[in-house]
Amino acid sequence: MTHTAQPTASHFVNGTHLEDAAGDAIEVIHPATGAVIATVHAATPAVIEAALAGAVAAQADWAARTGTERGRVLRRAADLIRARNRELSILETLDTGKPLQETLVADASSGADALEYFGGMAGTLTGQHVALGANWGYTIREPLGLCVGIGAWNYPTQIACWKAAPALACGNAMVFKPSEVTPLCALKIAEILVEAGAPPGLFNVVQGAGAVGAALVADPRVAKVSLTGSVPTGRKVYAAAAQAMKHVTMELGGKSPLIVFHDADLDDAVGGAILGNFYSTGQVCSNGTRVFVQKGIRDAFLARLTERLAGVRMGDPLDEATNFGPMASAAQRDIVMGYIAQGIAEGARLVAGGGCPEGPGFWVEPTVFADVTDAMTIAREEIFGPVMCVLDFTDEEEAIARANATDFGLSAGVFTRDLTRAHRVIARLQAGTCFVNSYNDAPVELPFGGFKMSGLGRENAAAAIAHYSQLKSVFVRMGRVAAPF
Ligand code: NDP
Repeated sequence: MTHTAQPTASHFVNGTHLEDAAGDAIEVIHPATGAVIATVHAATPAVIEAALAGAVAAQADWAARTGTERGRVLRRAADLIRARNRELSILETLDTGKPLQETLVADASSGADALEYFGGMAGTLTGQHVALGANWGYTIREPLGLCVGIGAWNYPTQIACWKAAPALACGNAMVFKPSEVTPLCALKIAEILVEAGAPPGLFNVVQGAGAVGAALVADPRVAKVSLTGSVPTGRKVYAAAAQAMKHVTMELGGKSPLIVFHDADLDDAVGGAILGNFYSTGQVCSNGTRVFVQKGIRDAFLARLTERLAGVRMGDPLDEATNFGPMASAAQRDIVMGYIAQGIAEGARLVAGGGCPEGPGFWVEPTVFADVTDAMTIAREEIFGPVMCVLDFTDEEEAIARANATDFGLSAGVFTRDLTRAHRVIARLQAGTCFVNSYNDAPVELPFGGFKMSGLGRENAAAAIAHYSQLKSVFVRMGRVAAPF
């Protein structure tokens, strides 16, 4: 079956669709079939200028509204997203290849959660009164101004909303650049925000590859950049932002540990490892790809995991019975297959998968390696695909030391029935987003982000407000000024 998802125009700027065919053509490919479903054009300098100028103009008016008024727009957008969940989920599936079974519950709905949450919070954002004896002071929480959001290709709707919602709640405007691999979904969010009452120019979407992102980051009108992407891109964007001391939020990659102790509920631990390695075909930054299993239960863990892998259903991602989709692009499929070959070459034992099914689309089987050692490439580098590495360990101290022996620090999980051990271990793991007897939950109420090379700043929860606003402190003297001369 062929699909088309051609948007009205490539960009959404100043409250409306905008086309400029002079920009390089970007073919949008449905990853399950390899078919071209749309063509958009990269933003030309004229499009970038229109977006930035429009956002600057919109921001002043938006910031002058009360928080309650701003919040109402965001909450209306959340309602519209929920009402159109199926339509948006189908588009997300066409754009990314992720199964509809997943996108119906994980993408637009997570975006709506963020808009609802920060919409509710917008009216509560205040400074503080500070008593200073006879004098006093106060703080004003001000927006930063114009923010740039740059997205990865794994969660295009969610990433756009997770960045837009706190930014707009605080009174900022945003220019968002989706990944060139998945340009479609953010356009829908831009349309919906305008329908919900956002002023033209408040949230703009411009397409393009890294060069467009770099042009946005370098523009002197931009006060803040929030990037979801890889560590190498994070380094470049952070360095560029530093030239003008711009604020940044960096949501980068990981190689996170998931530690399974001998007393864990085996089925739950296997379920956690499946969610933390194969959901979204493994294209999740927080995935627990280094699964440390305590020696006594290693074989039972692998046996149960192999049994449950029989439940994988690959196929048309638009079929709601399909629970495992393709990789987002041919390039990413090739990267993952390269890592699988390297795992085999370095002596890891292939327990499941490892293949690249014949036919159209960018498929990789869910793959499990056992007997993985810390030094192997597949245990050190982020693969960003459905490849689970099972390592074994003897005791708690060893598991903690090996779990932390990485430059990344996005996530970590622990499976055990021993309550004290769970919290003792979590307290020592160097990771920003942790799980006890679970994996990869990302409710908007909890901050999300990484330690070490995995990032800076936090998305979601009240923590995000600090990253989209700045504090002005005001000292007020009530008496006379006592100067020395
Ligand atoms: P990339 O780092 O390749 O790209 C991220 C975004 O940055 C893309 O939109 C890209 O454009 C853009 N970009 C590239 N170069 C520049 C530049 N010099 N200046 C400004 N923007 C630039 O990541 P992927 O898209 O390949 O996404 C996968 C990565 O994202 C993984 O490493 C994963 O771990 C990470 N990720 C992190 C998450 C988190 O929250 N921590 C969540 C999801 C993913 P384009 O690609 O269009 O050229």
